[in-house]
Amino acid sequence: MDSFDCDLFVVGAGSGGVRASRMAAARGARVIVAEGSALGGTCVNLGCIPKKLYSHAAHCHEQFQEAVGFGWHVGEVSFDWQRLRTRRAAEITRLNGVYDKLLSGAGVRLVRGWARLLDPHTVGVKSHDGEEQRFTARHILLATGGRPQRPSGPGAEWAITSDELFDIDPFPRRLLVVGGGYIACEFASIFQGLGSQVTLVHRGPRILRGFDEEIAGFADLEMRKKGLTVRLNATVAEVQRRGDVQVVRLSDGHTVEVDAVLQATGRLPLTEGLGLEALGITLNAEGTVPVDARFQTAIPSVLAIGDLVGHKALTPVALAEAMVLVDHLFGDGQRPPIDYEAIATAVFTHPNIATVGMSEERARRLHGEVRVFRSEFKALKHTLSDSTERTLMKIVVDAATDRVLGMHMVGADAGEVIQGFAVAVQAGLTKAQIDRTIGIHPTGAEEFVTMREPVR
Ligand code: NDP
Repeated sequence: MDSFDCDLFVVGAGSGGVRASRMAAARGARVIVAEGSALGGTCVNLGCIPKKLYSHAAHCHEQFQEAVGFGWHVGEVSFDWQRLRTRRAAEITRLNGVYDKLLSGAGVRLVRGWARLLDPHTVGVKSHDGEEQRFTARHILLATGGRPQRPSGPGAEWAITSDELFDIDPFPRRLLVVGGGYIACEFASIFQGLGSQVTLVHRGPRILRGFDEEIAGFADLEMRKKGLTVRLNATVAEVQRRGDVQVVRLSDGHTVEVDAVLQATGRLPLTEGLGLEALGITLNAEGTVPVDARFQTAIPSVLAIGDLVGHKALTPVALAEAMVLVDHLFGDGQRPPIDYEAIATAVFTHPNIATVGMSEERARRLHGEVRVFRSEFKALKHTLSDSTERTLMKIVVDAATDRVLGMHMVGADAGEVIQGFAVAVQAGLTKAQIDRTIGIHPTGAEEFVTMREPVR
């Protein structure tokens, strides 16, 4: 046993930090974790969890409408934004408590305050009353995550980010969303579902850059069918404030009057105040912390995972990185490295989008000849619901090896469907194996195992 206060000092009790703390403690390490804000980080407090709860709330709206086609008489419905906010906040507080118990149950010491590195083995934690406590550690793990990029440009001073949107008051009857990524598309869909009139403005020719282009285009059309206005190849040129209303002039000549503007133009790693430069840790151009395959920074005793490192800014990736790191530090180091290519992901738009592996474009770039299987259909439910929503499923296969390179879906519960297939894709799934699989009838997911003729 060395003379450090702990074996592992973790900065940040978000998804990655809490997982690393608990797993290290379970292997006998003495662990301290510092957190200056609510336990659980972005995912629990201002990201995945509250977003998904709001997404469920938004889906209720279309379910009321669809129920009529099945014989239900649905009276006049109304939506209580305050009640949703209050109930969401109560659930998040409950989860904060769960995280607290998880840490204490694992024997991890929680220190409240903001941490900075003082030297390769010392952390200072400033509590809310301004006192700084010092701790020495054999290893220091940085897991501080990210934050929304604060808006700049016309009207920036009045625009909000996803952090503020969860509690916006009053409910915006008209919302302008700037951006075409995950957060822009999800919040545009959610607020449209909750009753806002939403306009999404994206600077590029297609939303969700990096996703399969056909999937992104299809999702765009489906979202428009639900009432969303999407303006592509456009930016905000000018914003004028008239009382509570913002009058936004776009570069394409359109003018939109809204109650709020959400800037969802990306997130940045949270490195401010950590004291990295002073220690000799130079950030990458995009602000992430450079690490090696074992998540070690330029200072061997200082490690970093999650959004701070930016391999993929997804909670399950931060969790996986925490597991690999703890295995290297306190286990036998046998855990295989993470395959960042085969990470499934979902965008909780209406309808959902989910994907695992390569887009058709990326597959063609990297593998040359590919076979593409595609099925587009109206889900059985919608034969009576009167909804015009359609589903698209797509499989991209390496022509030379028959290996499935990517699977993509736009449709109800796409994330649930793709999560199952992701296991198989990760395990080296071939199209022949899909063909041998017998479907579950009648489901939407069975379409994935019945595609026989490639379209390209
Ligand atoms: P993204 O990187 O996904 O999207 C940012 C969007 O903003 C892009 O469409 C980008 O356009 C646009 N943009 C960037 N800069 C500007 C600018 N100056 N003016 C106009 N538009 C601009 O970031 P998000 O903030 O949406 O999300 C951050 C990350 O968080 C995601 O990448 C994802 O990893 C994670 N996340 C995951 C979720 C999930 O798993 N469901 C949900 C939410 C977030 P362009 O494409 O042209 O660059």
